[in-house]
Amino acid sequence: MRWPHGKVAAASFTFDVDAETYLLATDPDSKNRPGLLSQALYDPKVGVPLILEALAKHDVKATFFVPGLTAELHPDSVSAIVQGGHELAVHGYTHTPPHLLSLEQESEQLTKAVDILTAEAGEISGYRSPSWDVSPNTLGLLEENGLTYSSNFMDDLTPYQHDGRRIVELPIQWILDDYPHFGWSPGEDSGRIRNTREVEAIWTEEFDGIVAYGGSYILTMHPEVSGRPSRVALLERMMDYVAARDDVWVTTCAEIATHAMHELSAQER
Ligand SMILES: [Zn+2]
Repeated sequence: MRWPHGKVAAASFTFDVDAETYLLATDPDSKNRPGLLSQALYDPKVGVPLILEALAKHDVKATFFVPGLTAELHPDSVSAIVQGGHELAVHGYTHTPPHLLSLEQESEQLTKAVDILTAEAGEISGYRSPSWDVSPNTLGLLEENGLTYSSNFMDDLTPYQHDGRRIVELPIQWILDDYPHFGWSPGEDSGRIRNTREVEAIWTEEFDGIVAYGGSYILTMHPEVSGRPSRVALLERMMDYVAARDDVWVTTCAEIATHAMHELSAQER
């Protein structure tokens, strides 16, 4: 991949604004558990504002993947994200992973989410599925809904085009997600509460590696998890670390995807 303006790699800070949608999708009875819900409601109430403040301080434009239901339940959070100049992208409607939905259900939920977010942001081009667990129908449905990129697959370090499709993939991986490092929940056996310095070492080493390979560094965070004070400080250190490489293009996923699409089709010609 050739990157614009003489850059050697790209980087994007991304946030999945799940709020309570992931709890309701797993167990609708969660709505009767205010203590449990409060863990998720930290996301719009405190996490998003602290993260927006940190991004503004470092002059970084990020991509926020938002379930349609989050946008309906927390419209002020979504307005604040848009007003901050950040990109909005789709993260399902109910936070149900597509592999658990029929084609009809997946299609209906995707179109609903695209409509809700388009009304907020004007234009939407990207999609990240809940839990990065897409179905065989997902890529076709993205095209049908006019979306141009996916950020769901773990099989590369550099953007690529899916076979026979227009959709550009911006590859991600659990190593660059805050949840496996920090996302502890009662009763769950996944994740644990780690020291931020340990995670910083993992994330900066992976950044150095992806830059050396000329790839795209997509960091995935959740305001519920990374909106805690110690982790906002980690986010700030990561923004400093990435900014110290002035040969790395720091931008939104939409910008990276648009560039990649032009570059990949130019290579084909
Ligand atoms: Zn999510």
